[in-house]
Amino acid sequence: MDDFDLEINKETYKDEAVDDYIDGPGEPDTAKSLEEEASFITPKFKNEDSELEKSLRPRYFSDFIGQEKIIENLKIFINSAKKRSESLDHVILSGPPGLGKTCLAEIIANELGVNFKITSGPAIERAGDLAAILTNLEKLDVLFIDEMHRLNRAIEEVLYPVMEDYKLDIIIGKGPSARSIRIDIAPFTIIGATTRIGLIAAPLRDRFGVHLRLDYYNIESIKKIIKRSASILDMKITDEGADAIARRSRGTPRIANRLLKRVRDYALMFENGNITGEVADGALTKLDIDILGLDVIDKKILHTIVNKFDGGPVGVGTIAVSIGEEVDTVEDVYEPFLIQLGFIKRTSKGRMATDLAFRHLGVDRHQDSQEHNKPDRRLF
Ligand code: ADP
Repeated sequence: MDDFDLEINKETYKDEAVDDYIDGPGEPDTAKSLEEEASFITPKFKNEDSELEKSLRPRYFSDFIGQEKIIENLKIFINSAKKRSESLDHVILSGPPGLGKTCLAEIIANELGVNFKITSGPAIERAGDLAAILTNLEKLDVLFIDEMHRLNRAIEEVLYPVMEDYKLDIIIGKGPSARSIRIDIAPFTIIGATTRIGLIAAPLRDRFGVHLRLDYYNIESIKKIIKRSASILDMKITDEGADAIARRSRGTPRIANRLLKRVRDYALMFENGNITGEVADGALTKLDIDILGLDVIDKKILHTIVNKFDGGPVGVGTIAVSIGEEVDTVEDVYEPFLIQLGFIKRTSKGRMATDLAFRHLGVDRHQDSQEHNKPDRRLF
């Protein structure tokens, strides 16, 4: 299959992210958020990633690094489906952005030897959009639906009989002459992806036979991904160089590849292009990314909880307002990694900073609370 060999009717697929995936980036339509502007470490797709991701995207299991348990299971399911000449069970992939959900979906289609078609939850606005997609699928094809949690509820209802029995019920006409017809769809597989599995309604979730949760990658896997990318892009990198980038990549391949590209630019300017540990450290420090991969926005979040709210608890809405970000962005992009590092805890009353976070910011928790108990601080 060629680069995203997608027979997509672009009129039907209005979603900008999908457009970029197919065509490469166009002019950005909306004002960039603070996170888009400032952050190199956002795991969300940025336009600058488009070219990079095209060349680096793994196409088969043999190129896909890490997530061993998931791959092992998928190989069994795929082999079994192929032996039975039946469609693979519907699969839902969840996990933070940039961990390889889209890659994995495409790999599944390639390994099955079927077409891979792609859309996203918000792009399917009406039942007619869905009907256009489904009636164009061939037997056993894979339909990838990104951002599954943003699918509208009316579309979900239409999907239920499709997922269970491959029957599509659509209403033809309007008013008293409207009638419902049932269309048979060739058996196929939906692979849904979501960053927020909890937002998917239970009846929809239950219709996926296979649930797979992608986790942040360990340093060794990220190092392998960086070395693979460096070799594809013809870059010279030492083991220490790969290690320095891996440690700041937040366990996220998309960030690792982006940082590699940034460090390469720096290395070409100052060091004949050779990425050593020293070069990588120097470049990443210049980009304001600390040794754990935290950047300006993570630090603002920690600073808000630790300094403004004495370590919490504080609601995520308040944190978002305080740093000028969307609640969704804080919840999807920043918080999971800060929780993974053990810097933030989610409690029923809100987010709390842990001792580790106080230490990382160099704030003495004990002294700080004593400061706050001084009478002058309480009064004013
Ligand atoms: P998601 O859909 O979860 O946001 P993607 O599938 O778009 O993430 O992955 C982002 C990029 O990260 C890919 O283009 C690919 O280059 C890289 N990538 C992700 N997972 C892996 C992996 N396991 N091995 C190698 N590269 C990977």
